[in-house]
Amino acid sequence: MLVEHPFKRASLEYVGGKYSEVIISTPNGIVPIGRNHPIVVVAGPCSVESKTMIVETAQQVKASGAKFLRGGAYKPRTSPYAFQGYGESALELLSIAKEETGLGIITEVMDASDLDKIKEVADVIQVGARNMQNFSLLKKVGSQEKPILLKRGIAATINEWLMAAEYILAAGNPNVILCERGIRTFDTKYTRNTLDLSVIPVLRSLTHLPIMVDPSHGTGRADYVPSMAAAAVVAGTDSLMIEVHPNPAKALSDGIQSLTPVKFDNLMHKILIISQTVHRLV
Ligand code: PEP
Ligand code: MN
Repeated sequence: MLVEHPFKRASLEYVGGKYSEVIISTPNGIVPIGRNHPIVVVAGPCSVESKTMIVETAQQVKASGAKFLRGGAYKPRTSPYAFQGYGESALELLSIAKEETGLGIITEVMDASDLDKIKEVADVIQVGARNMQNFSLLKKVGSQEKPILLKRGIAATINEWLMAAEYILAAGNPNVILCERGIRTFDTKYTRNTLDLSVIPVLRSLTHLPIMVDPSHGTGRADYVPSMAAAAVVAGTDSLMIEVHPNPAKALSDGIQSLTPVKFDNLMHKILIISQTVHRLV
């Protein structure tokens, strides 16, 4: 088939215009993510910090309607002196939180040598913004079966992002979700990144892959997260990723952008109303 874009398997044309869904099985049941399904919310702390914090946060976000718990075990940090994540012991805590709540788990892989351990607990494996063009990692996550959440690179064009997805698809894994998490623009004083919401209709015209929006990294400020989460739903995202921490002021990473469980609950009420209005139940 002749496809006019540099990406082929990721293109909407390649599948005859039919949007794909990623179907994830979690202990609480099957959760599909895609254009023709209710909006799925992923929530949890930037990093897994302790058993109590991750289990309690999981219970709280579940009660508010999240279907997945997120939490970093291996953290990509700008500074080598910053908290790097608790690694393998954090994976164990995620599996306890999964057992306690039945939530699906999303966590990031930075090094292919950690993949097997991560796969034991993760239902979806995240490739973070900083690794979006780590082609050897993309090939490795493409040649295993767990769904991949592919975050947009910090300064990635849409073509570069879709070509990164193409690596995973070409390696044999059809289950890729694209996550917009903000891109770097010239003003970093008031927001950490610029959340590119126009990418939602653009992606819809180019690709069949499901879309997630992460307004937490996208804005870098908890106060701005609810507005942008709501806007993303109206613009047609299939899913949201929201950072939630029991005590943001004490967080080991990304506290400034993390919602408290109470603020997250308020946001979920708002998202429910908006998603009904746009005919996409949560
Ligand atoms: C994260 O999800 O905590 C993270 C580091 O995200 P990103 O790769 O988008 O910066
Ligand atoms: Mn984070």
